[in-house]
Amino acid sequence: MEKLQQLYEGKAKKVYATADPDLVIVSYKDDATAFDGLKKGTILGKGAINNQMTNFLMQKLAAAGVPTHFVEELNERETVVKKVSIVPLEVIIRNVSAGSFAKRYGVKEGIVFDSPSFEFSYKNDDLHDPLMSEYHAVALKLATWEEIELIRKYAFQVNDFLKAELLACGVTLVDFKLEFGKTSDGTIVLADEISPDTCRFWDARTGEKLDKDRFRRDLGNVEGAYQEMARRLMGR
Ligand code: UDP
Repeated sequence: MEKLQQLYEGKAKKVYATADPDLVIVSYKDDATAFDGLKKGTILGKGAINNQMTNFLMQKLAAAGVPTHFVEELNERETVVKKVSIVPLEVIIRNVSAGSFAKRYGVKEGIVFDSPSFEFSYKNDDLHDPLMSEYHAVALKLATWEEIELIRKYAFQVNDFLKAELLACGVTLVDFKLEFGKTSDGTIVLADEISPDTCRFWDARTGEKLDKDRFRRDLGNVEGAYQEMARRLMGR
């Protein structure tokens, strides 16, 4: 399958058309941004790791009953996926307090929740991705109640699967962000990526951060953390 014209360039990926109107090719970049794009940098090898980790996890999730946009890995940083229109909601699940949750509620990071939390942010850079209730999402016609119920069900399935998969690698799944899309026939599928860019991974024993917080917070050894996660999850 060949790349035709570029359709879109985001912060971490480019998307290209293909000869099939229902398929596109995503190409993962090594570019990293944080804090609404204010902080910019490069994480060498990140594109390849995020591409391969996303595909590895999405194939397992599909087998576990979560439909995804994954079609075929082309090479280390490019993948054929179903063309979807992205539901403009960032879906965030948390098992442990961190990041914006800790900040918003004035609590420390590392509080283990008895049951996971679920939230939406409205995907809108100009508004800085504000927290959004499902009622607001429905009022704004970003999704229907049926779609929201399905998205919630899939997101918790992803959490159950990912938590167990990571625990077996000695990693605590702190929180993560998912995006869902609608295919041309209206089916809701998991889209975007699942990677150290979009999840918080802490070493289960030492608490060491193995995700993009190393970049956000200038903790050093950013590349090493991505490589370590690739090695632990996929053995490479
Ligand atoms: N996240 C993301 N993209 C975003 C915002 C958050 O992938 O635009 C991920 C982030 O990496 C973390 C989880 O979602 O794993 C929860 O992020 P949080 O709301 O704590 O925001 P942050 O502290 O990253 O601003």
